[in-house]
Amino acid sequence: MIEDINKEFIIPENWLKVEELKEGVRVNLMAGHCQDCGTVFFPAYQRCIKCGSEQCKPLVLSGKGTLYSETVVHQAPNNFSTPFRVGYVLFPEGPLVFGQFVDMREIQIGDQVEVVLGKLREAESGEAGWAYMYQPTAISSTRGEN
Ligand SMILES: [Zn+2]
Repeated sequence: MIEDINKEFIIPENWLKVEELKEGVRVNLMAGHCQDCGTVFFPAYQRCIKCGSEQCKPLVLSGKGTLYSETVVHQAPNNFSTPFRVGYVLFPEGPLVFGQFVDMREIQIGDQVEVVLGKLREAESGEAGWAYMYQPTAISSTRGEN
């Protein structure tokens, strides 16, 4: 399925494990796992970012992490609606991954967030800018109801 939708993604298909192209659906990030030193890194590269080993295998990260830092962006390139929140999320497997939040709801450092599919921007051509995005886990059950 991901082959069909890949051209609509603005991030490479090997970054995500996604079953359905729909806003708010849970997704998992695909990391690299070094078989020599154990480092887990995102995105996955063929070579380990720590030791340089080429003995790396793909690893699907858990869909949840802990907010490490965040800020609000007020000035952005065309096709991005401001303001929006961005931040770094620490995953249990090790990587610290930058991403944008689905909305501006309040969140605090240390809160649990989950990874979902969202529209990062709308291109002038009308092309969707699908990407992984973060949302606080506490609001996941109410998302889409209002
Ligand atoms: Zn390594």
